[in-house]
Amino acid sequence: MMRIMIRSLTNPVATSRTEVHPNRTRLTPDILDLKHEKNVVLLAHYYQSPGIQELADHVGDSLALARAAERTDAPIILFCGVHFMAETAKILNPTRKVLVPDLHAGCSLAESAPVAKFRAFVDAHPHHVVVSYINCSAEVKAMSDIICTSSNAVRVVNSIPTQHEIIFAPDKHLGAYIQRITGRKMLLWDGVCEVHVEISADKLELLLEKYPEAKLIAHPECPEHLLTMADHVGSTSSLLDFVERDTGTTFIVATEAGILHKMRQAVPYKRLIAAPVHADNACACSECPYMKLNTLEKVHAALLNEEPEIVLNEDIRHRAYRALRNMLDLG
Ligand code: SF4
Repeated sequence: MMRIMIRSLTNPVATSRTEVHPNRTRLTPDILDLKHEKNVVLLAHYYQSPGIQELADHVGDSLALARAAERTDAPIILFCGVHFMAETAKILNPTRKVLVPDLHAGCSLAESAPVAKFRAFVDAHPHHVVVSYINCSAEVKAMSDIICTSSNAVRVVNSIPTQHEIIFAPDKHLGAYIQRITGRKMLLWDGVCEVHVEISADKLELLLEKYPEAKLIAHPECPEHLLTMADHVGSTSSLLDFVERDTGTTFIVATEAGILHKMRQAVPYKRLIAAPVHADNACACSECPYMKLNTLEKVHAALLNEEPEIVLNEDIRHRAYRALRNMLDLG
């Protein structure tokens, strides 16, 4: 289900100074002033830091943010997420200036499908329908027939007539999950999200022993052995909906830990635990290093200097748009 937290649909600069808490910093007033002055819409993914989420006009998953980017009439979009998400905004709304806080905020899934290798793979299977997860470059989108997100991947795959064979790229774990749900056999590209594969099943089992009442909820980018342990599998929006609707009081959340910010706001009286990872990192949880490259300092600099800007080749943009449009037109 598409899910979005909306401050204002009609007025992208409606965020006021008084709304921003409790993550105010010394930069907060300047960021809000620049946003207002330049009529910038700030889009933030659920995996962004709480401070960035609190300044955003829209916070959501990839699908919701793509739709928000397409329909905004603000002249500048500042996309706080990773590179492929900002590219998607530019593909869908090319007359807007699309800025990012950090051009190096990439994605292991997008990087797992280099253009030349993917071209060769697609050319080797000329009769397959190419379904690409939105976590891929504009070039890979341009080689695809239709895009999907984790929210709508089942619907997208089910929309393809059964006589057609399917390539699914770049996430092999999401692809395998969709295969199991739909019963469609697909050729899976060998990519993974380096964040979701780092979640530790052994540590999860220990947590489940410690909190026997806990429900494990997981994003389908997790490998199958983690998904089979889960009480609920779904996109970030679906996980958020689940903790709101379910009668449980304790949830272990197997996806990027940034989503816990919105969950804690939605259900402050429930216990929410980030799934543990193999490494003993600072937060002992699953943090995306690319998402976390974006900082309030970089948000401020991007607004001030109006760069870095996303620029796309028009032919690639046009072909990528067609694949995205095929997804969005499914509703
Ligand atoms: S969490 Fe995984 S899929 Fe999402 S941006 Fe980070 S590396 Fe990419």
